[in-house]
Amino acid sequence: MKSKCPNCGKININSNPDNIICRCFNCYEYFNLSANEVKSKMYVSGPITGFPEYNKKAFDDAKMKLEKESGYEVLTPFDVSPFTPGKTWIAYMHEDLKALMDCDAIAMLPGWEYSAGATIEHDLAVKLSFTIIYLK
Ligand SMILES: [Zn+2]
Repeated sequence: MKSKCPNCGKININSNPDNIICRCFNCYEYFNLSANEVKSKMYVSGPITGFPEYNKKAFDDAKMKLEKESGYEVLTPFDVSPFTPGKTWIAYMHEDLKALMDCDAIAMLPGWEYSAGATIEHDLAVKLSFTIIYLK
């Protein structure tokens, strides 16, 4: 369970859900874990470049389905790095990877294997032991 300390705002991670009261690792205040729980985040990764409408519909559909079924807060590249004319691929990747690092789960859209960005994101997720979902 992830909970936000109401005193200092730091996220505390507690693997024992039976402990209702926890002591913040940062400011040492005691607080109620369950009352301050924050949802874990899941990132949707997949191909964008070369698809009609940047494949946005596939990302949106996956987000809607996963939010309903997984209990995660779900982020897509369209949430975290909105389209800006002239923005480079590397600039998009900077924003996407920053957002990905706040997640602990990733969902891969079909065709991710052929996307330079999505394979980088998948590599990170594998090596950092994220929960990984392969969508069909
Ligand atoms: Zn605190």
